[in-house]
Amino acid sequence: MIVTRFAPSPNGPLHLGHALSAVVAHDLAKEAGGRFLLRIEDIDGARSRPDLADGFRADLAWLGLEWDEVTPQSARVDAYAAAAERLRDMGLLYPCRCTRSQIAALATETGPDGPVYPGTCKEAPPRKDEPVAWRLDVAKALALTGPLTWTDRSAGEQQARPDLAGDVVLVRKDKTTPASYHLAATLDDAADGVTLVTRGTDLFAATHVHRLLQALLHLPVPRWHHHALLLDEDGRKLAKRRGSPSLADRRGAGEDGRALADALRAGRLPAGITRSRSLHGTA
Ligand code: GLU
Repeated sequence: MIVTRFAPSPNGPLHLGHALSAVVAHDLAKEAGGRFLLRIEDIDGARSRPDLADGFRADLAWLGLEWDEVTPQSARVDAYAAAAERLRDMGLLYPCRCTRSQIAALATETGPDGPVYPGTCKEAPPRKDEPVAWRLDVAKALALTGPLTWTDRSAGEQQARPDLAGDVVLVRKDKTTPASYHLAATLDDAADGVTLVTRGTDLFAATHVHRLLQALLHLPVPRWHHHALLLDEDGRKLAKRRGSPSLADRRGAGEDGRALADALRAGRLPAGITRSRSLHGTA
């Protein structure tokens, strides 16, 4: 059975790009007689506003979607800690005290998410009393797993290249945010039985990291579908702070949500909004 999910973070209201993501994931599951899940990814420390989640549910219902809701991330922190412990025991994590600005100043390579960690704390470990994040030693991990592949529904088989992003953080320094997105989302997709991970092409590179984590933690390997993003007139991803109305605004203004979902399905976009050209041959 196909199981897809929509996994919004309640850091801000949903907009049209989220609606597209939810409609795509919903339809891929429902057309195949499968399940469409909603998972609230609410572990983003001070940025997380759990009060927004009710609005998300109202947005999905307004779009005419049907879903089953699964456990939010805030209720699964013990599972994230246990997985991190396992990776630490395998000698695959190392503590890192570096700040963003230190990394930006020292990095010599840029990866899909910005500066690639230059390995400073791998060479000179932090003192015991310093607050630290825990990074995955990607080279060591890949040496253990050997080469890995994964499959995008449209772009086909991909060679996993977690090395491009470098030694990503799996456990954050900020104790209010227990696990990084990579660790939490990978564990949740397995726990929720997701078989087709559907999200925007902006997260294509994250999938390389998730595939490596699946191999290390012996998790089932789903398939992926990375869909095009919606862009504003300046070619940037839609964002409320740049003036794109939220779904809640549209709902409040009396717009027909089901008609909006149908327009997205048909590729009819509101004035000024375009679809990103596919980066990886995905639709
Ligand atoms: N919480 C993530 C976001 O809102 C979800 C990413 C994913 O679908 O894996 O961007």
